Formats: sequence, structure tokens, C-alpha cells
Amino acid sequence: MILEVKELEVYYGAIRALQGISFQVNEGEIVTLIGANGAGKSTTMRTVSGLLQPRKGEVVFQGRRINRIPAHKIVRLGISHVPEGRQIFPNLTVTENLLMGAYTRRDRAGIKQSLEEVMDRFPRLRERAKQLAGTLSGGEQQMVAMGRGLMSKPKLLILDEPSMGLSPLLVEEIFNIIKTINLQGTTILLVEQNAFMALQVAHQAYVLETGRIVLSGPAREVQANPQIRSAYLGEV
Ligand code: ATP
Repeated sequence: MILEVKELEVYYGAIRALQGISFQVNEGEIVTLIGANGAGKSTTMRTVSGLLQPRKGEVVFQGRRINRIPAHKIVRLGISHVPEGRQIFPNLTVTENLLMGAYTRRDRAGIKQSLEEVMDRFPRLRERAKQLAGTLSGGEQQMVAMGRGLMSKPKLLILDEPSMGLSPLLVEEIFNIIKTINLQGTTILLVEQNAFMALQVAHQAYVLETGRIVLSGPAREVQANPQIRSAYLGEV
């Protein structure tokens, strides 16, 4: 097991956004958290990567409790978070954006090699290496955000709504890339509103509703669950 989240409770002021979330991620897997708007998916991810502090519960990464450790140190331990909405730097080029993802590293030769690997994985970014990121299409910006996330060579890659705002064809492309990144050895924690696609690529799934996990299991079983089919997969 690479990540274990135990009984997380997170508040925004007096509002309890997470009401005791527990889940696990095994090494090598894609684990997905699905749920409607406001269910607490982003809050959970932000707590795992150290951007929010839980009032109760803990986050254990590779056997070590990390929920008192500052976010930049968590990156160094091997967790990379690609946030919802991408948060790229619009006035920097594609290459400069990617290099930002390596800010915790000092090995210049290694960084150069990682940049090449990311460009190999996203040929479209190589073509546009010198273009300002703000002028890229939504799908290309998502590739920049994911590529930047990979530049720290994470053991665990957190992807928050990678398909948001993309056309169906691009969604397909992004999910294929997610599968490839995973097959090449990176464990992935995937937050999605697009439950249909997420359940197709994931090994394990957790369903969140108003700050609680209401269902979990192998993605295939969750996908077959009649309640999930009607609530999240648009079936009657
Ligand atoms: P979405 O898919 O819409 O991003 P989500 O499942 O990621 O939803 P969160 O963003 O984690 O949900 O929000 C969980 C709850 O916490 C919501 O009720 C939201 O309104 C609340 N919340 C989130 N951020 C804040 C904040 N900064 N201040 C106050 N409440 C917040």
C-alpha cells in the first residue's frame, strides 16, 4: 500500500466538508474518487497533498504520516498534485511551465532527461515548446498540467478532474495518456466527475457523497452497481 487515508475530517470554518473519509491506494494502481459537485473530492486531494490540514484523521504515505508536513516537502516525498482547473502559468512558455514542476529537484541532467520524457509522452507539447501556455487549447493546457506534474518524478500522481471542459475526443485522449502513465509505473489517484471514463480506467473506486464514502470496491463492481448506474452513469 502506498497511501492510506484514515478517518479524515476537514473543516472550512464551522462547516465540516469531510466527515471521516478513509481509503487506500495500492502501489501500481489507478484509484478513483467519484462524486457530485461539492461532495468533497478536491478537499480530500488538497488534504493528501498538504494544502489543507485535517482536524481529525491522518494521511500515511509509504508508511509515514504526512499530514503535518508542509506541501512542498510532500512533493519531495513523491506526491504530485495536478489541480482542478490546471493552474498553468499563462505567460510562460510550455517548456517553462514544465520546468516549474521540477522546482524541488537539483539534478540538472536528470531534469533535462525528464523534460525529454514528458515531451516524448506529449508530442504536441514538443511541437509547441516555445508557445505561451495561455494560448494553448484546453486539452493542450491539461497536457501541460499533467506533464508538469510528472516533472517531479512522483510515486503518486494526483489528478483532479483532468477531463473538465474537454471535448469527448480529447477526454478519450487524456484518459489514454492516464492509462499509459500508469502502465509505465506511476500510481494514480484520480478525481473525476466523469464517472463513466474514470470507472473504465481505474482498478479501485470510492464514491463520495457530502463528505462521506458511500460505496467502494473494484471499479468494475462499482460500475455494475445499479444505484451508481442511475445516479452517476445516467441510466434509468
Ligand atoms: P467539485 O466537483 O464541484 O469540485 P468537490 O467534490 O471537489 O466538488 P469540494 O471542492 O471538495 O467538492 O467541496 C466540498 C465542500 O466544501 C463543498 O460544500 C464546498 O462548498 C465546500 N468548500 C470548498 N472549498 C471551500 C472554501 N475554501 N471555503 C468554504 N467552503 C469550501
